[in-house]
Amino acid sequence: MVMAAEGARRPVIIAGPCSVESREQTLATYRGLAACGCVNMIRGGVWKPRTYPSCFQGVGEVGLEWLAEAKAETGLPFGVEVANSRHVEAALGAGADMVWIGARTTGNPFSVQEVADALRGTEVLVLVKNAQMPDTGLWTGAVERMLAAGVGPERLVLVHRGFAQTSGNEYRNPPVWHVALEMRRRFPELKMLCDPSHICGRREGLAATAQKAADLSYDGLFMESHVRPDEALSDAAQQVTPEQLGELLAGIRWRRETV
Ligand code: PEP
Ligand code: MN
Repeated sequence: MVMAAEGARRPVIIAGPCSVESREQTLATYRGLAACGCVNMIRGGVWKPRTYPSCFQGVGEVGLEWLAEAKAETGLPFGVEVANSRHVEAALGAGADMVWIGARTTGNPFSVQEVADALRGTEVLVLVKNAQMPDTGLWTGAVERMLAAGVGPERLVLVHRGFAQTSGNEYRNPPVWHVALEMRRRFPELKMLCDPSHICGRREGLAATAQKAADLSYDGLFMESHVRPDEALSDAAQQVTPEQLGELLAGIRWRRETV
Protein backbone atom coordinates (compact mmCIF):
# COMPACT_ATOMS: atom_id res chain seq x y z
CA MET A 1 0.00 0.00 0.00
CA VAL A 2 1.48 3.33 -1.02
CA MET A 3 0.42 6.87 -0.25
CA ALA A 4 -1.99 8.75 -2.52
CA ALA A 5 -0.86 8.57 -6.13
CA GLU A 6 1.35 11.33 -7.48
CA GLY A 7 -0.86 13.96 -9.02
CA ALA A 8 -3.71 13.45 -6.56
CA ARG A 9 -2.02 15.85 -4.07
CA ARG A 10 -4.69 15.50 -1.43
CA PRO A 11 -3.69 15.60 2.22
CA VAL A 12 -3.41 12.16 3.79
CA ILE A 13 -5.34 11.87 7.05
CA ILE A 14 -4.59 8.99 9.41
CA ALA A 15 -6.58 9.03 12.66
CA GLY A 16 -7.71 6.77 15.45
CA PRO A 17 -7.43 6.13 19.16
CA CYS A 18 -4.16 6.46 21.03
CA SER A 19 -4.89 2.99 22.43
CA VAL A 20 -7.18 0.25 21.24
CA GLU A 21 -9.03 -0.50 24.48
CA SER A 22 -11.99 -2.78 23.82
CA ARG A 23 -13.84 -4.32 20.90
CA GLU A 24 -16.72 -1.90 21.44
CA GLN A 25 -14.47 1.19 21.58
CA THR A 26 -12.54 0.06 18.50
CA LEU A 27 -15.66 -0.57 16.41
CA ALA A 28 -17.38 2.62 17.56
CA THR A 29 -14.38 4.86 16.90
CA TYR A 30 -13.63 3.17 13.59
CA ARG A 31 -17.27 3.51 12.49
CA GLY A 32 -17.35 7.17 13.54
CA LEU A 33 -14.23 7.94 11.55
CA ALA A 34 -15.53 6.02 8.53
CA ALA A 35 -18.80 7.96 8.75
CA CYS A 36 -17.02 11.33 8.89
CA GLY A 37 -15.52 10.48 5.51
CA CYS A 38 -12.44 12.51 6.32
CA VAL A 39 -9.80 9.85 6.96
CA ASN A 40 -7.79 7.59 4.68
CA MET A 41 -6.61 5.17 7.31
CA ILE A 42 -7.12 4.26 10.97
CA ARG A 43 -4.36 4.24 13.58
CA GLY A 44 -4.56 2.36 16.89
CA GLY A 45 -1.96 1.36 19.46
CA VAL A 46 -2.18 -2.19 20.81
CA TRP A 47 1.29 -2.28 22.41
CA LYS A 48 1.83 0.99 24.26
CA PRO A 49 5.32 2.26 25.18
CA ARG A 50 4.29 3.86 28.49
CA THR A 51 6.74 5.60 30.78
CA TYR A 52 5.56 3.77 33.92
CA PRO A 53 4.72 0.08 34.32
CA SER A 54 1.66 1.07 36.34
CA CYS A 55 0.11 2.72 33.25
CA PHE A 56 -2.14 0.95 30.76
CA GLN A 57 0.21 -1.10 28.56
CA GLY A 58 -2.18 -1.84 25.69
CA VAL A 59 -4.42 -4.85 25.05
CA GLY A 60 -1.88 -6.68 22.87
CA GLU A 61 -2.69 -9.00 19.97
CA VAL A 62 -6.42 -9.24 20.62
CA GLY A 63 -6.62 -5.58 19.58
CA LEU A 64 -5.44 -6.56 16.12
CA GLU A 65 -8.49 -8.81 15.78
CA TRP A 66 -10.79 -5.88 16.63
CA LEU A 67 -9.02 -3.62 14.13
CA ALA A 68 -9.24 -6.32 11.44
CA GLU A 69 -12.94 -6.80 12.17
CA ALA A 70 -13.59 -3.05 11.84
CA LYS A 71 -11.56 -2.91 8.63
CA ALA A 72 -13.61 -5.76 7.16
CA GLU A 73 -16.81 -3.91 8.04
CA THR A 74 -15.85 -0.42 6.83
CA GLY A 75 -13.17 -1.07 4.22
CA LEU A 76 -10.83 1.43 5.89
CA PRO A 77 -7.22 0.21 6.21
CA PHE A 78 -5.40 0.34 9.55
CA GLY A 79 -1.96 0.62 11.09
CA VAL A 80 -0.40 -0.04 14.49
CA GLU A 81 2.78 0.90 16.34
CA VAL A 82 5.51 -1.73 16.28
CA ALA A 83 8.69 -1.87 18.32
CA ASN A 84 10.11 -5.35 17.61
CA SER A 85 9.95 -8.23 15.12
CA ARG A 86 7.17 -10.03 17.04
CA HIS A 87 5.00 -6.94 16.69
CA VAL A 88 5.68 -6.73 12.96
CA GLU A 89 4.82 -10.39 12.39
CA ALA A 90 1.62 -10.19 14.43
CA ALA A 91 0.50 -6.92 12.80
CA LEU A 92 1.10 -8.15 9.27
CA GLY A 93 -0.46 -11.50 10.09
CA ALA A 94 -3.62 -9.68 11.20
CA GLY A 95 -3.83 -7.70 7.95
CA ALA A 96 -2.36 -4.35 9.01
CA ASP A 97 -1.78 -2.01 6.07
CA MET A 98 0.68 0.21 7.90
CA VAL A 99 3.06 0.03 10.82
CA TRP A 100 4.61 2.98 12.59
CA ILE A 101 7.78 3.37 14.60
CA GLY A 102 7.08 5.46 17.70
CA ALA A 103 9.29 8.23 19.07
CA ARG A 104 10.82 6.05 21.79
CA THR A 105 11.66 3.29 19.33
CA THR A 106 13.22 5.70 16.80
CA GLY A 107 15.54 6.65 19.66
CA ASN A 108 16.81 3.04 19.93
CA PRO A 109 18.86 1.91 16.91
CA PHE A 110 18.85 -1.77 18.00
CA SER A 111 15.04 -1.78 17.91
CA VAL A 112 14.87 0.17 14.66
CA GLN A 113 17.22 -2.33 13.02
CA GLU A 114 15.16 -5.27 14.31
CA VAL A 115 11.97 -3.74 12.91
CA ALA A 116 13.67 -2.88 9.62
CA ASP A 117 14.90 -6.46 9.24
CA ALA A 118 11.39 -7.78 9.98
CA LEU A 119 10.02 -5.49 7.25
CA ARG A 120 12.33 -6.85 4.52
CA GLY A 121 10.27 -8.24 1.68
CA THR A 122 6.97 -6.81 2.94
CA GLU A 123 4.83 -4.19 1.19
CA VAL A 124 3.14 -2.27 4.00
CA LEU A 125 3.30 1.46 4.50
CA VAL A 126 5.94 2.36 7.13
CA LEU A 127 5.77 5.56 9.18
CA VAL A 128 8.76 6.76 11.18
CA LYS A 129 8.12 9.27 13.94
CA ASN A 130 10.88 11.58 15.08
CA ALA A 131 12.84 10.58 18.19
CA GLN A 132 12.20 12.64 21.32
CA MET A 133 15.34 14.77 21.18
CA PRO A 134 15.19 17.86 18.98
CA ASP A 135 17.67 16.93 16.29
CA THR A 136 17.58 14.97 13.07
CA GLY A 137 20.25 12.36 13.87
CA LEU A 138 18.28 9.37 15.15
CA TRP A 139 15.36 10.17 12.84
CA THR A 140 17.73 10.18 9.85
CA GLY A 141 19.36 6.97 11.03
CA ALA A 142 15.99 5.23 11.32
CA VAL A 143 15.07 6.32 7.78
CA GLU A 144 18.42 5.06 6.48
CA ARG A 145 17.89 1.68 8.20
CA MET A 146 14.46 1.34 6.58
CA LEU A 147 15.72 2.29 3.13
CA ALA A 148 18.61 -0.17 3.47
CA ALA A 149 16.11 -2.92 4.37
CA GLY A 150 14.23 -2.32 1.13
CA VAL A 151 11.45 -0.13 2.49
CA GLY A 152 11.37 2.18 -0.52
CA PRO A 153 10.57 5.91 -0.47
CA GLU A 154 7.14 5.29 -2.03
CA ARG A 155 6.00 3.59 1.19
CA LEU A 156 8.18 5.30 3.79
CA VAL A 157 6.68 8.33 5.54
CA LEU A 158 7.99 10.77 8.14
CA VAL A 159 5.79 11.77 11.09
CA HIS A 160 6.63 14.94 13.00
CA ARG A 161 5.29 14.55 16.57
CA GLY A 162 7.25 17.30 18.30
CA PHE A 163 10.23 17.06 20.64
CA ALA A 164 10.60 16.50 24.37
CA GLN A 165 11.36 19.49 26.55
CA THR A 166 12.71 20.07 30.04
CA SER A 167 10.41 22.89 31.09
CA GLY A 168 6.73 23.41 30.53
CA ASN A 169 5.32 25.56 27.78
CA GLU A 170 2.10 25.56 25.78
CA TYR A 171 3.05 22.34 24.00
CA ARG A 172 3.49 18.83 25.38
CA ASN A 173 6.19 18.32 22.72
CA PRO A 174 7.14 21.64 21.10
CA PRO A 175 7.15 21.35 17.31
CA VAL A 176 10.55 23.00 16.69
CA TRP A 177 9.40 23.26 13.07
CA HIS A 178 12.83 23.95 11.62
CA VAL A 179 14.10 20.49 12.65
CA ALA A 180 11.26 18.80 10.78
CA LEU A 181 11.81 21.05 7.79
CA GLU A 182 15.48 20.04 7.80
CA MET A 183 14.30 16.41 7.39
CA ARG A 184 12.10 17.48 4.48
CA ARG A 185 15.12 19.00 2.78
CA ARG A 186 17.23 15.91 3.51
CA PHE A 187 14.61 13.46 2.23
CA PRO A 188 12.56 15.40 -0.36
CA GLU A 189 11.27 12.11 -1.81
CA LEU A 190 9.50 11.18 1.45
CA LYS A 191 6.06 12.35 2.48
CA MET A 192 5.76 14.01 5.88
CA LEU A 193 2.74 14.03 8.17
CA CYS A 194 2.25 16.20 11.24
CA ASP A 195 0.96 14.73 14.53
CA PRO A 196 -0.70 17.71 16.27
CA SER A 197 -2.07 15.41 19.01
CA HIS A 198 1.33 14.58 20.53
CA ILE A 199 2.69 18.05 19.80
CA CYS A 200 -0.12 19.78 21.71
CA GLY A 201 -0.98 17.21 24.39
CA ARG A 202 -4.39 18.86 24.76
CA ARG A 203 -7.29 19.72 22.52
CA GLU A 204 -6.55 23.43 22.50
CA GLY A 205 -4.07 24.17 19.78
CA LEU A 206 -4.79 21.10 17.63
CA ALA A 207 -6.45 23.12 14.85
CA ALA A 208 -3.77 25.83 14.84
CA THR A 209 -1.00 23.24 14.70
CA ALA A 210 -2.72 21.34 11.91
CA GLN A 211 -3.16 24.60 10.00
CA LYS A 212 0.52 25.45 10.46
CA ALA A 213 1.43 22.04 8.98
CA ALA A 214 -0.87 22.73 6.04
CA ASP A 215 0.75 26.15 5.57
CA LEU A 216 4.16 24.47 5.51
CA SER A 217 2.99 22.05 2.77
CA TYR A 218 3.00 18.91 4.90
CA ASP A 219 1.42 15.96 3.11
CA GLY A 220 -1.19 15.33 5.78
CA LEU A 221 -1.96 14.66 9.42
CA PHE A 222 -1.66 11.80 11.92
CA MET A 223 -4.15 12.44 14.74
CA GLU A 224 -5.75 10.78 17.72
CA SER A 225 -9.50 10.30 17.93
CA HIS A 226 -11.50 8.37 20.52
CA VAL A 227 -15.22 7.84 20.67
CA ARG A 228 -15.20 8.95 24.35
CA PRO A 229 -12.00 11.00 24.73
CA ASP A 230 -12.39 11.79 28.43
CA GLU A 231 -12.50 8.07 29.25
CA ALA A 232 -9.45 7.19 27.17
CA LEU A 233 -6.91 4.97 28.95
CA SER A 234 -4.01 6.94 27.46
CA ASP A 235 -3.62 10.49 26.15
CA ALA A 236 -7.18 11.47 27.12
CA ALA A 237 -6.54 15.23 27.13
CA GLN A 238 -5.46 15.38 23.49
CA GLN A 239 -8.07 13.16 21.86
CA VAL A 240 -11.21 14.36 20.08
CA THR A 241 -14.32 12.53 18.94
CA PRO A 242 -14.62 11.53 15.27
CA GLU A 243 -17.23 14.29 14.86
CA GLN A 244 -14.91 16.90 16.39
CA LEU A 245 -12.10 15.68 14.17
CA GLY A 246 -14.33 16.04 11.12
CA GLU A 247 -15.12 19.64 12.09
CA LEU A 248 -11.48 20.43 12.76
CA LEU A 249 -10.38 19.00 9.41
CA ALA A 250 -13.12 20.86 7.55
CA GLY A 251 -11.64 24.11 8.85
CA ILE A 252 -8.09 23.47 7.62
CA ARG A 253 -7.07 25.30 4.47
CA TRP A 254 -4.41 23.37 2.58
CA ARG A 255 -2.05 25.21 0.29
CA ARG A 256 -3.11 25.10 -3.30
CA GLU A 257 -0.17 22.98 -4.38
CA THR A 258 -0.86 20.41 -1.64
CA VAL A 259 -4.59 19.94 -2.10
C1 PEP B 1 1.24 7.35 19.77
O1 PEP B 1 1.18 7.68 18.58
O2 PEP B 1 0.26 6.96 20.42
C2 PEP B 1 2.53 7.47 20.49
C3 PEP B 1 2.86 6.68 21.50
O3 PEP B 1 3.22 8.50 20.02
P1 PEP B 1 4.77 8.93 20.18
O4 PEP B 1 5.57 7.71 19.81
O5 PEP B 1 4.88 10.03 19.20
O6 PEP B 1 4.96 9.37 21.59
MN1 MN C 1 -0.89 8.70 22.10
